Amino acid sequence: MSLTERIRHKARALGFTSVGFAPADPLKGAEFYARWVALGYAGQMDYLKRYLDKRTDPRRMVPGAQTAICLGMDYYQPTPAAPDPPDPLRGRIACYARGDDYHDLVKKRLAALWEFVLAEAGVQTKGRYFVDTAPVLERELAQRAGLGWWGKNTCLIDKRRGSYFFLAEIITELKLDYDEPAPDHCGTCTRCLDACPTDAFPEPYVLDARRCISYLNIELKGPIPRDLRQGMGQWIFGCDVCQEVCPWNRKAEPATEPAYKSRAGLSSPALLDLIQLDREAFNALFRRSPVKRPKRRGFLRNVAVALGNSGEQAAVPALVRALDDNEPLVRGHVAWALGQLGGDEAKGALERRLRVEEDAEVRGELEDALAAL
Ligand code: SF4
Ligand code: SF4
Repeated sequence: MSLTERIRHKARALGFTSVGFAPADPLKGAEFYARWVALGYAGQMDYLKRYLDKRTDPRRMVPGAQTAICLGMDYYQPTPAAPDPPDPLRGRIACYARGDDYHDLVKKRLAALWEFVLAEAGVQTKGRYFVDTAPVLERELAQRAGLGWWGKNTCLIDKRRGSYFFLAEIITELKLDYDEPAPDHCGTCTRCLDACPTDAFPEPYVLDARRCISYLNIELKGPIPRDLRQGMGQWIFGCDVCQEVCPWNRKAEPATEPAYKSRAGLSSPALLDLIQLDREAFNALFRRSPVKRPKRRGFLRNVAVALGNSGEQAAVPALVRALDDNEPLVRGHVAWALGQLGGDEAKGALERRLRVEEDAEVRGELEDALAAL
């Protein structure tokens, strides 16, 4: 067996569900990426704006690099069928985030694979491994390596397994045998573009992250723009809509990796429980989970928006209690939610809070919520 095939074999044994090899040449999409950043589509994700030259040329990351070993690891978890009619007091968490954080697990597997490569190569060689370090670079490399094509929804899509997989790569000086790039199979389909609830695709294959729910409820640190809150529906961490509607995901198989199994209660979490989480309970519930990323204040902000979108008066008492939360970010979004739900109890609580509220931003939210009633 060639060294390339031995590495492919080992990667599969380590749980990587796709493996491909590509030349470590500079990105063809470098100009596209620079334009994307210049148009402001990266929003507050400053880490994507730094080191553009490195992010678009693997040889800037590993001098003398010849090969990118591109890897995918499935994470798909089926969502249990929603009750009919759906329960608006249940939130939605993106499929990838219902189990353990993938970064640690993928990094450990990458380290094991790199050790194997070094042992098998029989020569001194340099290389580095990455997971989620340079998303545009890793998607183009993965396409070159045959792992899938860059879909109109900007996910990498594999004809056999869809798009529910994490990407990672090893960039190395070693010269290995390359795979054929994957051709585009989107054709005339526009399902993802039509289904996006916040209209986040200015054109096919281009995402304006500032409008994407996954950015708004994970990456954005401050208040969510008011004109986008209703479009967020019940999504409290991430969003899978443009993957759920993609026909290529009909064939997605549930991941066998135990770490990615949905934790109890996270497939359709009860919003009224989540809005009451204190710091300790939040940390305990989301220990080693990706959901920790926006911290308690960002997460409860998201829960408040989902409750505001629920249309359920039953949410009002819990929101009234949350109007006294220590975090201004939470209070502001709770005020918006109460304004959406309306009713005498909501109005009275908003008026009482306005009499004592000192934070200017929250006062603005309270006043606008009252004006909307
Ligand atoms: Fe739109 Fe959701 Fe896809 Fe973001 S993740 S582009 S909000 S459908
Ligand atoms: Fe491509 Fe259609 Fe899937 Fe969108 S939904 S990524 S257009 S195949």
